[in-house]
Amino acid sequence: MTVQNENDNWLPRIEAALCTGCGECIARCPTAALASVAGKAALIRPSACTYCAACESVCPTNAIELPYLICKPRDEGENDRE
Ligand code: SF4
Ligand code: SF4
Repeated sequence: MTVQNENDNWLPRIEAALCTGCGECIARCPTAALASVAGKAALIRPSACTYCAACESVCPTNAIELPYLICKPRDEGENDRE
């Protein structure tokens, strides 16, 4: 499945204030989308992120959040017939 990346709102968010720089998320990321920047985890290759949630699940301080995209049907009723 290809995920459209019209904006970055769906990407993992890292709360720097909560990040201890332990590196667990970086080690677990299967696509090397994360790296350490100035002692904190950072999403340096957002286009590589597959939204697998490994980083979120491994973070001991809950510094990473994946804001799941909510898809709504468009123009509900548009195709209603009879
Ligand atoms: S696992 Fe959490 S605390 Fe550790 S480097 Fe990643 S974001 Fe920071
Ligand atoms: S969601 Fe998966 S691919 Fe994306 S940054 Fe986290 S571990 Fe890496």
